[in-house]
This record gives sequence, structure tokens and C-alpha cells, in this order.
Amino acid sequence: MAKILIIEDEPELVRVLRSYLERAGYAVISSGRGDDGLQLWEREKPDLVLLDLNLPGADGLDVARAIRKRADTPLIMVTARVEEADRLVGLELGADDYIPKPFSPREVVARVRAVLRRATKNGSASTGMVLKISDLEIDLDAHAVICRGQKVDLTPTEFDLLATMARHPGRVFSRLQLLEAVQGVAYEGYERTVDAHIKNLRSKIEADARHPRYIQTVFGVGYRMSKE
Ligand code: CA
Repeated sequence: MAKILIIEDEPELVRVLRSYLERAGYAVISSGRGDDGLQLWEREKPDLVLLDLNLPGADGLDVARAIRKRADTPLIMVTARVEEADRLVGLELGADDYIPKPFSPREVVARVRAVLRRATKNGSASTGMVLKISDLEIDLDAHAVICRGQKVDLTPTEFDLLATMARHPGRVFSRLQLLEAVQGVAYEGYERTVDAHIKNLRSKIEADARHPRYIQTVFGVGYRMSKE
């Protein structure tokens, strides 16, 4: 049973989310503070974190940053802050999804399920495939990436983006196509979130992120993986 950690300071929201998630078969733990939530994350090692942005104790963005420094636990930001800048900061920190408040609990359960499915290696059929592009190796079964001989830790979203492009080197993907490939659905207006993920990916795999060797920008269109 997957364990979900909710870090949220509105008791009524926690109550509703807990009831929906438990009914969907998840174990739920929760904290109403950022600092306590982080400790709970460390102790309980949940499979996924639902994280509010405005929290007492420690800001949601700081919590996200602290988690990402140490692990790739799938992370969904839930927030009433509507500014796109905040949303992008969250995604730049490596959050896997973003849900604006107010939301329907049903939608949250669907997003949790989608993010967990992507994070579970065993959920996908075995392909035995390792993609190789120059000195970048992507093991599709193990969800492992080796770059210039070094293991690279990617979030589930970053891995899916990379694998999607690497399966078709040279092919140009629009931002919407990439969103759809990694989330199953693509929302108009969310295209820029792809840029945030690509930026993170580049910082992890490119020797010089400003002159990317692997993930190339095709201006006015999107991105593509280099052929060699
Ligand atoms: Ca709050």
C-alpha cells in the first residue's frame, strides 16, 4: 500500500483529502507544519508528498528544496498561490506536478495515481532497453541514467521527459506533446512548466547547461534530443 504524506495546515482540507485517498486505497499521514512535515518525511519515507506552499514552521518551497536535496520522492505541490512564478519555482525545485486550489479531491486522487504510476519502475512492461546517445545511457527498465560514467538522479517527470525524447533522437517535440507524454494529459497554458523541467534536466546531464549537448532547443517549436 502506497503511503502518502500530506503537509497542509488547513485541517478541513486534510480531512477531505485523507478520506478520498484512504478510500482509493492509500495509507495517509499528515502534518500541519512545514518543519514537522519534513521530519515526518524523513522518518516515515512516504511514497509521495502532497505539499502546501503557505505553511507555518517552514515555507512549502523550502520543504520541497530540502526533500529534493536528499531524495527523489514524488512531490505534488498544492497551493492557492496563483502566480505563475511560484508554480515555476516549485517545478524548478523538482516537483512532479502542481495542483491549484481550489481543487476537487477526485482530481487530486487522479494526479496522485498518475505520479505514482510513473514513479513505480515495476509498473511498466519490461523492455530490456538501454538507450545510448554518445556518453548518455538511459536504462528504461531500471529508470537509471548514467552520464559520462556517473549515475544521475532524476525525478520521475525528468526521467519520462528524457526517455520520451531519447526514444526518437532528432525528432522535435512541442511542449504540449512533452507534457502529454509525461502526464498523460496536457493542459493548455502549462507549456512553460516543461521549460522548468528541461532546465533541471540540463543542469543534471549537460556538462555546460548553457550550451546543451543533448537536449536542444528548437526555437518557436520545442525540444529535441540530439542524434549522437
Ligand atoms: Ca496553507
